[in-house]
Amino acid sequence: MKTKNVLKLFLTAGLLFGVSTLFAKEKVYKLKLATTWGPTLSPLIDSAKNMAQMAKTMSNGRLIIKVDASNKHKSPLGILDMVKGGQYDMGHSASYYWKGKDINTLPFTSMPFGLTAPEQYAWFYYGGGLELMQKVYEKHGVYSFPGGSTGVQMGGWFRKEIKNLDDLSGIKMRIPGFAGEIMAKLGVQVTNIAPGELYTALDRNNIDALEWVGPSMDVKMGFHKIAPFYYTGWHEPASEMQFLVNQKVFRKLPKDLREILRVSMRLAAYDMYAQNYDMNAIAWDKMKKEFPNIQVKTFPKPIMDAMKAANKTLRQEMSSKSKLLKEVLDHQDAYMKKVREWSKMSDYLYLQDNI
Ligand code: CA
Repeated sequence: MKTKNVLKLFLTAGLLFGVSTLFAKEKVYKLKLATTWGPTLSPLIDSAKNMAQMAKTMSNGRLIIKVDASNKHKSPLGILDMVKGGQYDMGHSASYYWKGKDINTLPFTSMPFGLTAPEQYAWFYYGGGLELMQKVYEKHGVYSFPGGSTGVQMGGWFRKEIKNLDDLSGIKMRIPGFAGEIMAKLGVQVTNIAPGELYTALDRNNIDALEWVGPSMDVKMGFHKIAPFYYTGWHEPASEMQFLVNQKVFRKLPKDLREILRVSMRLAAYDMYAQNYDMNAIAWDKMKKEFPNIQVKTFPKPIMDAMKAANKTLRQEMSSKSKLLKEVLDHQDAYMKKVREWSKMSDYLYLQDNI
């Protein structure tokens, strides 16, 4: 009888121990992520969704990230605040949206005449860029990671050809952010219009030009049907999205899940760049077949020179107000000098002989 009881006790203890280890092992961590994007805005929304799917699969269901599009939380430009304040654990957005709150966040998306996507990824992951980004975001209590690149964005759709600075002066253009400030210095009347109203504004001559992204995302907007001059890019050569993670939330995750999250974000970022490259190729092929009158143009040199001069002045003005911004911009410049030599002798010269 006694032996039986002892055996029973052992069995029960063993069972309890087993069950508790099982539970400890299978604790599920559920995080909520808010994006700036609408539910169907490919490829931007896909980056967040892919990341969540990878984290779920790699963690065997222990890390579940629920992605909320902007129609859910109704605050597309409030992502940093929501992650900072803890309403959301994570975010997917673009760093330059917070430049009004913290100017130091500006250079982590893309700078006019700055790094290209491969150069910028090299800077982030191997050249010290990621460390600088964490330094800037530290005071907000969030970690920031690259979240997918659009690559070079096009300079925009124009109803009329721009041959000189006079043609640019006085035209009304939708071009937000820092690039808009540069255009304003060249005499452009810069306006910001909600994305849903852009086509009508262009169609009704309320604006003469606008920039959006590139063929992959412009094709659905239909601008090519009414503004045939498509200018090449200068202002957003590598717009990088970002993942934000509340620091307290990140630190509470077990070590393996932190690594799974980090790897999922990194892979989703690269993947969006590849996805968007493919989408651009397909969309451009379709556009030029359907609308053969589209003309791809590059701004003439005097305009480019004026843009570069305005860019320089504006950067100096901003840098004089923030030491940290100056540190980031100088770091990017120094890196670009080095990496551009390689870009020139590799992709650039290769393409020159093979186009
Ligand atoms: Ca843009």
